[in-house]
Amino acid sequence: MTTDNRQLINRLKEQQSLTKPEWIQLISGRTPELAEYLFLLAREERHRYYGHDVYVRGLIEFTNYCRNDCFYCGIRKSNGKAVRYRLDEEEILSCCQNGYRLGFRTFVLQGGEDAYFTDEKLVHILRSIKKLYPDCAITLSVGERSYDSFKRLFDAGADRYLLRHETCNASHYSRLHPPSLRASTRQQCLWDLKEIGYQVGTGFMTGSPYQTAEHLAEDMLFIKKLNPHMVGIGPFIVHHDTPFADKCSGTLELTLFMLGLLRLMLPKVLLPATTALGTIDSKGRELGILAGANVVMPNLSPVNVRKDYSLYDNKICTGDEAAECRKCLEKRMESIGYRIVTARGDSLNV
Ligand code: SAH
Repeated sequence: MTTDNRQLINRLKEQQSLTKPEWIQLISGRTPELAEYLFLLAREERHRYYGHDVYVRGLIEFTNYCRNDCFYCGIRKSNGKAVRYRLDEEEILSCCQNGYRLGFRTFVLQGGEDAYFTDEKLVHILRSIKKLYPDCAITLSVGERSYDSFKRLFDAGADRYLLRHETCNASHYSRLHPPSLRASTRQQCLWDLKEIGYQVGTGFMTGSPYQTAEHLAEDMLFIKKLNPHMVGIGPFIVHHDTPFADKCSGTLELTLFMLGLLRLMLPKVLLPATTALGTIDSKGRELGILAGANVVMPNLSPVNVRKDYSLYDNKICTGDEAAECRKCLEKRMESIGYRIVTARGDSLNV
């Protein structure tokens, strides 16, 4: 007789791990009742370590130039319709100034892999931000770079790095990316980042094309082994000017289920309720928090470029000023009994 899925969830909570066949069974056997049970336990774990606090990260999307051609992404190199922009140092610092006033103590600099931003340029920007805001954490999310480059950026003041592994399975990876990109390289970057001393975030899209429960099981095993400080997951959402224009988007339901599982597997990890989750459902981020997430990442990018950082269709908050986003999220979190806090919000998963 196979173990009942509820028992698997109980065991996951006790042991914080499952075997690959168990992960597959749990993920493919999920039901609404099982999900409710999972979220209850996930919330308990979240409250044990992080209470009802929700950390905020100010996201600054500083360039949408990209040398890569990921099949799912709207700012891929071959999308000739993307309107390209990059912010200069002064504009980035003005986003930080605005963010600091609004209570942000973490800035996330995210962008495509833009060769314009050499180590020298990024080092200069990092030093300037650190000088003005020494009490803030800086997160970089600018894709794959060499060990030496990661090290130089770390030494210049970057505290954290977000690099989703996207999918652990090499053959699935190759169906989402051109041959120049490899799952093993991406994963090596994550190990490098950890070794250098960054607080590291990885993650994947739920419901990406060709994804199976087995792939998700491999993602869970990989994440367990990496033991990152943060895990960012969100649904894959179609972008109409990509090779995946006619694929199906991921679902709220699967994303929430995976958030709950991640909370039980790594109880102290930082888990964002992402913008993509808020995009597929108007209450997506609230439901994410209720499934075990504890971070939100409102946008601090200047409103005039917001719509051009278009990774997927119908992205929310592209017309709102940062202050409006911050207020809106505060209200949303309060409506479910949680509160946004002004703190760096370092991970307890160390
Ligand atoms: N260039 C950086 C940042 C990439 S954008 C890097 O390589 O890490 C951040 C994340 O957005 C990606 O890692 C990917 O998981 C997600 N993303 C990209 N396109 C998406 C889409 N169509 N739907 C949902 N998420 C997407």
